[in-house]
Amino acid sequence: MSGGLAGVVALALLVLTAFSSSAEQASVTWHPAKPRNGDVAWIHVKNVTEAATVEGSVDGRPLTFFPYGGGHAALFGVDIDAKPGSYAWRVGVVEKSREPLTAWGTLRIQRREFSVERLTLPPGMVDLDPETERRATAESKRLATAYRMITPDRFWRGKFTKPVGVAGEGTGFGARRVINGQPRSPHGGADYSAPRGTPVVAANSGRVALVADFFFPGRLVVVDHGLGLYTLYFHLDTIAVTEGQRLERGQPLGTVGATGRATGPHLHFGAQMRSARVDPATLLGLELLD
Ligand SMILES: [Zn+2]
Repeated sequence: MSGGLAGVVALALLVLTAFSSSAEQASVTWHPAKPRNGDVAWIHVKNVTEAATVEGSVDGRPLTFFPYGGGHAALFGVDIDAKPGSYAWRVGVVEKSREPLTAWGTLRIQRREFSVERLTLPPGMVDLDPETERRATAESKRLATAYRMITPDRFWRGKFTKPVGVAGEGTGFGARRVINGQPRSPHGGADYSAPRGTPVVAANSGRVALVADFFFPGRLVVVDHGLGLYTLYFHLDTIAVTEGQRLERGQPLGTVGATGRATGPHLHFGAQMRSARVDPATLLGLELLD
């Protein structure tokens, strides 16, 4: 995480806003300075009081700030399919003892290459019958609706933990499959191979937003960590939690299985920041600790 250069640039902009007589000048930094597809990035507005009102946006999409590290911070998810390029950001701060402050700049989104797998399969194996197609569409809409709900409380604290106690990292985030010449949606999570029955735990504190049994994901749990951040646990064998339940980081929520469309027992672990499908690995590596 190198925010140094971004910090200098942001500071220059803040000076332009003719910021008045305070001892410590406010500053804005992005971490990482140039996020890639799938990253959970975060913006740090330093040297503003906890009581300050901080709001902002990236590319017109709102940021939700929380008090952090001598100022305020907000997460920003870069979707798997986000178009690389420069995105305009803006931050506004209203504080009792100071002039209102506005800062702005551009955030460079860098392209990340994902693997592409081309397969030719008999059509009967890939085309769903109309009823199943309708079911799968309705279910993915239900998931999307769940992620649109922005809980104003921040439930998560400290480091995110791996949801299964197996060696190694989850694999396959962002992988694209082209079946019979038709591009399918990219793989939105990381797969952890583990024996059926292996305990699955909440990656951080939160509240159970959804428990369901869907066609593709199988038995699933969605955990709401607040402020638009969600983690997803798919293909579970058993589920030990109910909707609305509060969870602590590391608390068991079910066990690894092969329900839904799965070739063998594994945990599909996903993360969602508002509408952005993000790489859970970047969540596990988040350097924002309190
Ligand atoms: Zn998966």
